[in-house]
Amino acid sequence: MVDYHVHTRRCGHAEGDLSTYLAAARARGLREIGFADHIPLYFLPRTARDPSLAMAEEELPHYVGEIKALKITHPGITVRLGIEADYVPGYEKELARILRAYPFDYVIGSIHYLDGWGFDNPEQVTGYEGRDPDELYHAYFTLLGQAAASGLFDIMAHPDLIKKFGCRPATDPTPLYENTAAIFARAGVCIEVNTAGLRAPVREIYPAPAFLYACRRFGVPATIGSDAHHPEQVGAGVGEAVALLRETGYRSIAVFTRRRRLFLSL
Ligand code: ZN
Ligand code: FE
Ligand code: FE
Ligand code: ZN
Repeated sequence: MVDYHVHTRRCGHAEGDLSTYLAAARARGLREIGFADHIPLYFLPRTARDPSLAMAEEELPHYVGEIKALKITHPGITVRLGIEADYVPGYEKELARILRAYPFDYVIGSIHYLDGWGFDNPEQVTGYEGRDPDELYHAYFTLLGQAAASGLFDIMAHPDLIKKFGCRPATDPTPLYENTAAIFARAGVCIEVNTAGLRAPVREIYPAPAFLYACRRFGVPATIGSDAHHPEQVGAGVGEAVALLRETGYRSIAVFTRRRRLFLSL
């Protein structure tokens, strides 16, 4: 199998260097490992960037260079150069400029902020107090759809991350899932089946089965990622991800080279 969402020590909140992650992937028999570390916080002024959330701007060329070197020096497993990039409305040009400068195999788009609130950050979990889950879901999925439609991304990360700490809407989210799946299909992006949800308080893969099912019906391809922040997490939950994909009718997953999509059968 493959794991397309792996972080490294460079982002400031993961442990282990590239070679340790690669060794873990080989030990687990993965056929591809895709690194997708956090892009520098380009949407914040330099002085406001938290070094424990993402790599510094001057680190990015080194990140890219190291992974390119890894592709060459380690046969037997395919190494992909990805990046996890935040989507922040109003900063599309800045992000496009960074992405253009490097030969990424794929770009994973993430929503980690709603109006500056880092809703998936354990240190900001009190932000859920006094907020209406239905409104949060609506705001989150609106932004996710906007991100997909921006054309900047190949894959949408942990697509219902808003549930991380157990936030659940009172009303049926199926219409949100279907609208978003339709936007994904039109935009030509993939949905990421991200197993970090199994390790989060919610204890459920991102996305919810009903969201993945909507994506399958709209013809949205899927990728698989562990969101590993430690070498031991490489490939974690990938078996569950494959089972969920098969249950929802998927028969293949997408893989990428130089932002071109190919399919592997499941
Ligand atoms: Zn991270
Ligand atoms: Fe993320
Ligand atoms: Fe991540
Ligand atoms: Zn992530």
